[in-house]
Amino acid sequence: MSLLEQFPREEYLLKGNAACAGCGPALALRYVLKALGPRTVLVIPASCSSIIAGAYPKSAFKVPVYHIAFAASAATASGLVEGLEAQGIEANVVVWAGDGGTVDIGLQGLSGAAERNHNVTYICYDNEAYMNTGIQRSGATPYGAWTTTTPLGNKGRKKDLPFIMAAHNIPYVATASPAFPKDLVNKVAKAQKIRGFKYIHILAPCPTGWRYDPRLTVKIARLAVMTGFWPLLEIEHGRLRLNNPSTNLLDPARRRPLKEYLELQGRYRHLSEEDLKVLQRQIDEQWARIKAMLRVQEELEDQVEQGQGERQR
Ligand code: SF4
Repeated sequence: MSLLEQFPREEYLLKGNAACAGCGPALALRYVLKALGPRTVLVIPASCSSIIAGAYPKSAFKVPVYHIAFAASAATASGLVEGLEAQGIEANVVVWAGDGGTVDIGLQGLSGAAERNHNVTYICYDNEAYMNTGIQRSGATPYGAWTTTTPLGNKGRKKDLPFIMAAHNIPYVATASPAFPKDLVNKVAKAQKIRGFKYIHILAPCPTGWRYDPRLTVKIARLAVMTGFWPLLEIEHGRLRLNNPSTNLLDPARRRPLKEYLELQGRYRHLSEEDLKVLQRQIDEQWARIKAMLRVQEELEDQVEQGQGERQR
């Protein structure tokens, strides 16, 4: 069966919406809504998606949407889910927020909702800057990237929100990409079956802010994964697992050269060889951390198994 045949035919993100051509977040949302289905309420803080939805009384989304202030999405979703449950109404309550509304302005509310373990799925579509307001740097902007507030390239390091959320001990954390739609849809569908707070972080290329030809969105999203810049992983009840194709990329020799990902994007045009080395080092460190976590996890599981065996004897 082809990939397309496996997908629900129903569209919940309607044609003629206000997204730019080649918009990675709009593509990701199309898949996400197919996985969620009609019994879904979206909570959207200020972002490109507020614009894509269109102006009241019309909407490009075929599900109810709560448009909410930048910092308030996770708190709103918490209240919403409690209110619906009190009335015995079953629905997927899902936050759909950009990186600015997640890693910066919404982080306090997000942390609180995760700590309370509300039955909410929080999805961050990460286009690595405040695109809607003029491409300003966010905490998710990678080292070296041009934005209007980092004209010489960002000197900070991308905030590692998936692992920050995992440290909240919530039942499910995942990363995803619109270039791997089956993986993305499976993760969203899985999250809906788990009770408690779920966090999914999607790297979603933006042709306008990343300065590339809109035809290249899927290619760039794919290269982000294949170069090791964006590992696809899940942390389910504390257990880390890599997903394909990232499973094979633990071996650095199997990763595509980082340059292939960067050279397609105008925001990296000014990068020096030195900058490239810094970014590559950060990626290598990220993989070394993942490798170490997998090793420690395996050792701990072996110890627990051994302990159980000894107790049974
Ligand atoms: S600015 Fe970027 S994220 Fe926003 S609608 Fe356009 S392509 Fe999509």
